Amino acid sequence: MTEHSDAPVVCDHRGCVKPGRERLFTGATQVTFIRTALALAVALYAAHERSLPLLLVALATYWVGDIADGVLARRTDSETRIGAVLDIASDRLCAGAIYIGLAWLDPTMVIPIGIYLFQFAVVDTFLSLAFLAWPLTSPNYFYLVDATIWRWNWSKLGKAVNSSLFAILLVVTGSVPAAVAVAVCLSAVKVWSLLRLVRLGMPVPSGCAVTAASAQARRPLEQDVAP
Ligand SMILES: [Zn+2]
Repeated sequence: MTEHSDAPVVCDHRGCVKPGRERLFTGATQVTFIRTALALAVALYAAHERSLPLLLVALATYWVGDIADGVLARRTDSETRIGAVLDIASDRLCAGAIYIGLAWLDPTMVIPIGIYLFQFAVVDTFLSLAFLAWPLTSPNYFYLVDATIWRWNWSKLGKAVNSSLFAILLVVTGSVPAAVAVAVCLSAVKVWSLLRLVRLGMPVPSGCAVTAASAQARRPLEQDVAP
């Protein structure tokens, strides 16, 4: 018998952490960096030219790129927590640049865009990063923790409603009351999810950070020492 009492828990859930896999540069994170730089550059150029069509090109770059990095990560079996956090941060920059651009081109939309950006960049950022408190690879697998929060936020429908439908609504309808109503509904879903998450209780790491950091630094030398 070679089993250790402190051996890591082994499971076959696709969404649970695979520590050996974590690294900064994967094909998917490179796509994330490139699609973000490209979408930002096009959004800034759209602002420079005061051009709605260019801003829509930036929006399309953001969406296509956001789908592409996710698909690539899954197809190449290289989903990482690092990649998930980079993806979440990149989405906030892209949405911020594009929606501020939309507000600048159509100032009647400042209120719905303000409500949307607050929920997306503050409430939704907190929700999206919450997966880090559990041994999960990304929010896409949050159903392993809570199916209800996952369904409203990271199922295919949940993600589509939160990102694409709002921008389409702004541009296609041009209706301020409709945009305000949708932004308020999205915010209500996010706040409700946040309250449910807090009630659920997020795990907090225990122990001493200094001890953990020095143990981490010594690990390569001590990994062969029996417990
Ligand atoms: Zn598992």
